[in-house]
Amino acid sequence: MTQPQRSEVCPACGRYPDVGRFCLRCWVLNSHPYSGDRAAPFHFRLGAELLDILILLLGVLPWLVWMWHTSRDGQSPGKRLLGMYVLAEDGQPVTPQRMWMREFAIKRLLFGLLGYLFVGLPTIVDGAWMLLNPDRQCVHDRMVGTLVVVRRAPLITAPPKAPQADSLRLPPPAPPAVLPPAPPPQPAPPPQPAAPPLPPELLALEAEREGLSQFEYERRRADLLRRLEE
Ligand SMILES: [Zn+2]
Repeated sequence: MTQPQRSEVCPACGRYPDVGRFCLRCWVLNSHPYSGDRAAPFHFRLGAELLDILILLLGVLPWLVWMWHTSRDGQSPGKRLLGMYVLAEDGQPVTPQRMWMREFAIKRLLFGLLGYLFVGLPTIVDGAWMLLNPDRQCVHDRMVGTLVVVRRAPLITAPPKAPQADSLRLPPPAPPAVLPPAPPPQPAPPPQPAAPPLPPELLALEAEREGLSQFEYERRRADLLRRLEE
């Protein structure tokens, strides 16, 4: 049996979790503190036991058929009704074979026979054992190495995992972007015909323009243009 990993402080309640497989302050499963599994309290387990016995009294065959279904989930019919699960001592799920050993071979056949022979005393000792056991195990739990939990919403959620080395690696360089094909070169626009050089008379008028009024400038320019056209 592998020993569950132990922490110095219960992550759910922050207290020293004590020596059992459950934190003795908040009953969180020490090996899986973020699973939501907590030790099943005594009255839950007593209730599941009474339900199993009630179903057995109604009919052994229905109980066996129901057990055949629930054993795959680590439950007996009574535990299924109360939302309880059997786990291995390391916090892992149990096999159906182990469930049949626990629920049928040991609890029903062995303790049934012993209880019949000794006026129920062994059954009482078996059940009362969990009140003294720090792992809340009955005698039959000790015999097959099991724990019983109720599954609830986790009191706490697991801290985020440190990023893996893989995700720290830089992304691969992007492939070079494919450039769109260059458009065909546009034909150069035809050269604009150069403006004809101004006649010297107009140039002379432009040089004098600073000293002329707008009216005089317009009049002399119009005269010049008329004379040049002739
Ligand atoms: Zn705790």
